[in-house]
Parts: sequence; C-alpha cells; structure tokens
Amino acid sequence: MTKMDTMQANNKKRANDYVHEVYELLKKRNPDEKEFLQATREIFDSLRPVFSKHPEYIANGILERITEPERIIIFRVAWEDDQGKVHVNRGFRVQFNSDLGPYKGGIRFHPSVNSSIMKFLAFEQIFKNALTGQPIGAGKGGSDFDPKGKSDREIMRFTQSFTTELSKHIGPDVDVPAGDIGVGRREIGYMFGQYNRLKGGYEAGVFTGKDPNHGGSLGRKEATGYGTVYFVEEMLKEKGLSFEGTTVVVSGSGNVSTYAIEKAMQLGAKVVACSDSNGYIYDENGIDLETLKQLKEVENKRISEYLKFHPEAKYVENCSEIWTIPCDIALPCATQNELDEIAAQILIANGVKAIGEGANMPCTLEAMAAFQENKVLFAPAKAANAGGVAVSAMEMSQNSMRLSWTVEEVDERLQGVMKNIYNSCLDAAERFGEPGNLVMGANIAGFLKVADAMVAHGLS
Ligand code: NAP
Repeated sequence: MTKMDTMQANNKKRANDYVHEVYELLKKRNPDEKEFLQATREIFDSLRPVFSKHPEYIANGILERITEPERIIIFRVAWEDDQGKVHVNRGFRVQFNSDLGPYKGGIRFHPSVNSSIMKFLAFEQIFKNALTGQPIGAGKGGSDFDPKGKSDREIMRFTQSFTTELSKHIGPDVDVPAGDIGVGRREIGYMFGQYNRLKGGYEAGVFTGKDPNHGGSLGRKEATGYGTVYFVEEMLKEKGLSFEGTTVVVSGSGNVSTYAIEKAMQLGAKVVACSDSNGYIYDENGIDLETLKQLKEVENKRISEYLKFHPEAKYVENCSEIWTIPCDIALPCATQNELDEIAAQILIANGVKAIGEGANMPCTLEAMAAFQENKVLFAPAKAANAGGVAVSAMEMSQNSMRLSWTVEEVDERLQGVMKNIYNSCLDAAERFGEPGNLVMGANIAGFLKVADAMVAHGLS
C-alpha cells in the first residue's frame, strides 16, 4: 500500500464513521419521523465520497447542521364550517435552510400532514432549490386539514385562518410559500389576499403560484410536470432514446400529473393510465387529456368519472396497482412512497426503461435500489421535479421587476434550467466516482452548493 492509498483509506473510514455517527444521532433525536429519516438516509448514502474528499465539511459540522431545521413553527388553526361548527387543525411551517436565499417551498393541505412529512419535504427542498441555481433557501408547510368535500367558503375560511398565523413568519425576503398537494391557485389566492389584508399593502413577492391575472407567472401551473418530462427527455437522449412512440403510465391526476401527461403526449408518447387516491383508469387508446382536465381542474371530480365519457376505458379501485400496467416510462407524480419494491419488480419484469419522479420521494429506497440494479434509467425527484420551484423563483423575479414574461419565455428558461440540472447531476456523479448515477449526482450537486454557502456564512 502506498502512502497515498493509506491516506485515502483513512479519509474513507473517517467519512464513513462521520456519516454513521450523525445518522445515529438523527435517529435518536427523531425516532418517530420515518419519512424524514428515509429522506436523510438517501442523502447520507450519497455523500460518503464527498466527506472522504472534503474533510473541511466534517470540521464544519455540515451534516449535523444541514439536518436540523433552522426553525419549525407549529400552530393552531381554528375555523368554522358552513353549519357553524368549530374545527381545529394543526398548521406547520418548517424553515429548514436559508443559506442560499429566503425559505422557499410549498404548502400542503392533506390529512396525512405531520412533522415528519413536513420535515422530509423541507429537507428535500434544500437540495432541489440549490440545484435550480436560483437564490432560494428551503422550507415547507401545510396542515392536516382535508380539503376533500369542503365547500369553497369552508376552504376560504380555513385558508384565511391558516394565513393569519403564517403571515407572522413569511415575507418576500424572508419566506415565500407556494402550492403543493391540496393547494392550488384558489388557495394561494386566498392566502395572498389575507396576507395583504393583514399587512395593509400589496406584497406581490410573498407567494408564488398566483393567478397570472393577479401577479402570477405564466407557465407556473405547467412547470413541475413539464420540467419532469424535460428532465426525463434529457436522460433518454443520452441513451439515444426519446418519448416518441413510448407507452407511459403516470400516477395521480393533480397538477404535476396533468402537465406531465400533457408534455409527454406533445413529445409523442401514449399515456395510458393515471390515478387518484381511490383508483386508476386505464385507457389503451391513450388518455383523453381534455376530459381529464375538465373532470379534475374544472369539476373537481373523482378519476372514476372518466368512464362516463370513455366507457371503453377500465377503472380499478386500487391506486397502487397502476404499476402493474406494462409501460416503457413510469412517472410517479402523486405522493411519497407510492411505488414500493414489489411495484418496482413488476415494472422491471414488464420491461420499463425509465422512471421519472414527478412527486417528492415517490419511490421507496428499496424500489430505487431495484431500478438501479436493473439498469433502469432513474430521474430522482430532487432534480426531476425542480421545474416548479424554478419557475416560482422566476415569478419572484418578475414580481420584483414588476413585469411579466411570456409563456414562451418562461418555458424556454424552464428547459434551460432542467438541462443545467441534468448536466450538474451527471457531472457530480462522474466526479465522485459513480458515472451515470443521477440519484447520487443530484444529492451531491445540491449539497455542495449549500455546504459551501454554510461554510462561508460561519457557524449557525
Ligand atoms: P395535487 O394537485 O393535489 O395532486 C395530487 C394527486 O395525487 C391527486 O391526484 C391525488 O389524489 C393523488 N394522491 C394524493 N395522495 C395519494 C395517495 N396516498 N395515493 C395515491 N394518490 C394520491 O398535488 P400536486 O401539486 O400535483 O403534487 C403531487 C406531488 O408532486 C407531491 O408529491 C408534491 O409534493 C410534488 N410536487 C409538486 C410540485 C408543484 O409544483 N405542485 C412541485 C414539486 C413537487 P386525490 O385527489 O384522491 O387525493
């Protein structure tokens, strides 16, 4: 063994010990937060070679610091339903990291929302936002409020009550929320209205995802879904493949799914299935996007209603079985951990060529490993779904400049951002010894940007 070999072996051991120790500490401190521990586990596994090459990050305690939110705000949200009955929900805002800019990340309204889910989402946002190359930090928020079955007035009253507390902690240069599951343009509109009412002014840059007629960016609604497809397109191109003539399955039928479906179709794919939390539809002729939009965006109906317009399609009342449909490309765009190892093995056996994560952490760690072992092209969420937050940052720029870009301009910028992200992931994976591993590449490229800023800004 040469002196160099010994030094490298020592650095590797020190890096492994460091990662192990910090993860043990994290488990002890957050024993019940399984989603948060899952998200951190994936990052930790990717970062070993970084700590081996860069002991200065160990000396600066970057891993201990980057896994502890700067601040978590938990609050009561009381509201009254249409019958005058009082309800109480719990509100959250996790302000995880502000080394690159104001906290930035969506608000989720879903009954499953808890500390673990909020922290995992905000933690993922650190790396995703860094990858966009925009000056934005990371946060996430939400409530365990269930919007399903609520009237428009109930949604408004709940959202106003939620914003009354949230408004004390946000601002255009402090923390800029956007939408996520259960929060779209309507809810952002109510938040924006309530915030301005409370502050006695008009602060356009405090929320993104606003209606383009009232300060929003054109192209924001489409950005996450389109961006995911642009990223997968880059990944396919590298292997001489494309969307043209492929069969695609997309889970979910919300914002991300709808526009992933639209872009995949525009690029020549046949999208044969999509879902909601009750079940999935399979239309072997290809999904009729106009019907889907009418049902989900306009009428707020369940996906099963698709059959009323297309009786030849099939509805299966079990959303997780969507992955049994043979396809070339699978785009999980619904929610975390919706695609497990069993589903992954079925997709692999059916010959899937590529996976693009439109949702946050939709594949379990075991599913991800199965895809990688079987050489299925894999686009990880942090990189693949960063288009939404990238266009949100563009909305912030437009609000600051008090002007609006055209939809073509936004889309061109979005394509540029997704290409850059893809190249940074490839480059980082190559530099740290795992060429082509985009999971590692995304984690490392995002990490380096934030870690350098944390070192430069001193201990905090
Ligand atoms: P959305 O418009 O509310 O749509 C969510 C979709 O997922 C709905 O079809 C919903 O069905 C389905 N879903 C929710 N929970 C499910 C479950 N447990 N099993 C199966 N399906 C489920 O939300 P979205 O904005 O599209 O967000 C989807 C995912 O993308 C989330 O992981 C989100 O964090 C991520 N994401 C969103 C953005 C963005 O810009 N919106 C950006 C980056 C990442 P039901 O209607 O039955 O609930």
